[in-house]
Amino acid sequence: MAETMIKPENSDLTTKERIRSVEKTLSIIKPDGVSRGLVGEVIKQLEAAKFQIAAMKLIHMTKAQAEGFYAVHKERPFFDSVTTFMSSGPAVVMVLKGENVIAEYREIMGATDHKKAAEGTIRKNYATDIEKNVVHGSDSPETAALEISYFFNRFELVD
Ligand code: ATP
Ligand code: MG
Repeated sequence: MAETMIKPENSDLTTKERIRSVEKTLSIIKPDGVSRGLVGEVIKQLEAAKFQIAAMKLIHMTKAQAEGFYAVHKERPFFDSVTTFMSSGPAVVMVLKGENVIAEYREIMGATDHKKAAEGTIRKNYATDIEKNVVHGSDSPETAALEISYFFNRFELVD
């Protein structure tokens, strides 16, 4: 029994079935979103999109935690600045669940650079620059799994 419980979700499905299956993604309302009072607005949009909130908490990352989170960007010129920003104040971390939620949530967020984001997206409406862009969303199932486990243990996720 214990074996079934620790088996990765959908691990015995075919690729085709997995594509259509329910996904999880990590969402962050970044420190600019929290300090500007946009938590309610962002969550309203997540609920309107019918994503299930499977976990949620308010955290204040240390610089080291932010560096670990964005480790993939450590060679980029903006690494020091973005990790200082991500550790500058409280942020809301959430796990969202739903069919195709990884791509659908990124669509609702809009492009990294708010000037290039589509009309009606969160970043188009609320971001103030390319760095302070209000929200984060995982970009693939592999990244989502890593990012979710960075902030949540399995007892913190509801099904
Ligand atoms: P996120 O990972 O936060 O969801 P993203 O996947 O759209 O955003 P990434 O390329 O992963 O974009 O960049 C991570 C974050 O680093 C961006 O959201 C933004 O806050 C910051 N960032 C990205 N590019 C730049 C840049 N050129 N200058 C300053 N900050 C940047
Ligand atoms: Mg990213």
